Amino acid sequence: MMQESVGALVREAAQRFGVKTALVFEGRRWTFRDLELDASNVAWQLQKLGVRAGDAVSLFSPNCPEWIISYYAVMKIGAVANPLNLMLTAEEAAFAMNDCAAVAVFGSADRIAGLAKVKDQTRLRHLISFGEGACAGALRFEDLRSETREPFAIAESLTLDQPCTIGYTSGTTGHPKGAVLTHRAILMNTAMTATMHMRTSADTIVSALPCSHVYGNIIMNSAMAYGATLVLHPIFDVEKVLESVQSERATMLEGVPTMYMYILDHPRRSAYDVSTLTRCTVGGQTMPEAKMREVESAFACPLIELWGMTELGGLGTTHSVYGPTRHGSIGVPLPHLEARVMGADGVVVPRGEVGELQIRGPVTLKEYIGRPEATQEALDQDGWLHTGDLVRQDQEGYLYVVDRLKDMIITGGYNIYPAELERVIAEFPEVAMVAVGNVPDEHKGELAKAYVVPRQGASLDIEALDAHCRSRLAAYKVPRLYQVVTDLPKTSTGKILRRKLREHFQ
Ligand code: ATP
Ligand code: MG
Repeated sequence: MMQESVGALVREAAQRFGVKTALVFEGRRWTFRDLELDASNVAWQLQKLGVRAGDAVSLFSPNCPEWIISYYAVMKIGAVANPLNLMLTAEEAAFAMNDCAAVAVFGSADRIAGLAKVKDQTRLRHLISFGEGACAGALRFEDLRSETREPFAIAESLTLDQPCTIGYTSGTTGHPKGAVLTHRAILMNTAMTATMHMRTSADTIVSALPCSHVYGNIIMNSAMAYGATLVLHPIFDVEKVLESVQSERATMLEGVPTMYMYILDHPRRSAYDVSTLTRCTVGGQTMPEAKMREVESAFACPLIELWGMTELGGLGTTHSVYGPTRHGSIGVPLPHLEARVMGADGVVVPRGEVGELQIRGPVTLKEYIGRPEATQEALDQDGWLHTGDLVRQDQEGYLYVVDRLKDMIITGGYNIYPAELERVIAEFPEVAMVAVGNVPDEHKGELAKAYVVPRQGASLDIEALDAHCRSRLAAYKVPRLYQVVTDLPKTSTGKILRRKLREHFQ
């Protein structure tokens, strides 16, 4: 299945799945028809406001139905959606909006009020506020949504190779960058992800991942394309998430590793019936194998690892639901994608050896908006995306993430991959979560330091943990320092921010 544009997904979903529940949010329900009608109404109004095909329109709010409706309205008129990372301050958001010359912004009342105060907006003409309490000068989303018109017809001139979104990276390793993706990239990624995980209209999917992030976005689009019901949460709350799995009889739960680790560590997790789950997905960061196995036994279903990137509009690799589960592997490339493992010398490494993962195919970004050097660095002339992730590929083609190139610690001339240390530390029974960062050292350049969150009610014996590390790791890899902490700094999706560890805990 290949539509001509992402905007067509919601129209076709309304035709195919009509009054089936598309969305459940805080106890309220929307059918596929409701979403199509609302997105159509908002599309008309955007057009009336003078927003044109090709214009960028930003979205700046936590998950809510209005976010989804606005996204598809923007798609329908052929404008380019710019989902903003929730962690951005009003100034940073304004900077990004200037970057992509956004002409309008949809957002929660508080964020719109923040943006209204930022003066350096040159192109921005319309502030559109969700919910009550819109500030002076802002339009109310409700007014745009409620004026019913005939269905909005998508412009025929819209083609698959036109930009569709400018998605911001998580900012895990630096400032978030805006990746321009085409309709083809988003639609193909949606279709291929659904194929690998067999997402169908029989699915009910629980997610607390932000729709503004590539992982949450692909979940939203694949639910729309294949008629699954999406049970969406504005923030991740263990009990609310588990309660919704039980009450909606969910078949899938999706999240980043920290979400599963909070669930595993929650004293009331077994009070909820999660037996309807048939598979869960995890990605965005390395999940220690020991924790993956715990999730699988707690939920009695497979936990499918996926690896994705903003620059791919979604996933690059994952496992098929039919395939054997290979713990610790991010799976194989999605159909239509090529992958290779490149050595530092510019030669593809033999199977089993470590190199940078590079991906080529119809889903790669066009460019980072306003950052030609970053684009050149990431995308080479032959179309290979340099992911910055170090991987290994086994004889059968399964890929294993070693770590991010940028997170590698060099201590006394040896390379240490924090992810390897985190995997070993996570095996220790009293550990709920762990992150390994670096600290400068006069003699060795850098040292590895482990920040450990103990399980609730457990007392953590650091000496025993150190002995465990010594028994499992070569001496030079064993963390030189440990710190017990109560939580870890994270991005809006819940990814652990390794580069913030030192400053956060100093
Ligand atoms: P920034 O590029 O701004 O530093 P980011 O790379 O975290 O942020 P995203 O596009 O959200 O932004 O994330 C993509 C990255 O997430 C990948 O390059 C990879 O390092 C990491 N990642 C995603 N899935 C996995 C996984 N299953 N295992 C290990 N790492 C993963
Ligand atoms: Mg990145």
